Amino acid sequence: MTGPNPATTTTARICPNCDGFATAAISSGGRDARGHLHTLTVDCSACHGTGTLPLRPRLAVTAWEVAAR
Ligand SMILES: [Zn+2]
Repeated sequence: MTGPNPATTTTARICPNCDGFATAAISSGGRDARGHLHTLTVDCSACHGTGTLPLRPRLAVTAWEVAAR
């Protein structure tokens, strides 16, 4: 921890596909009469523009498999 703020206990994690930058403006190549670029706004397909993904639920103890010989 490097700052005065304590660690948060959020229930979501940053999307690994977009690293939290969930929306991008992509130029389509043309300009209008005022010289502004035509852009498309595209959301990350993994997080759908939220920038976060919910944490995966932890394994329940009943789901563990122990191999013993
Ligand atoms: Zn994402």
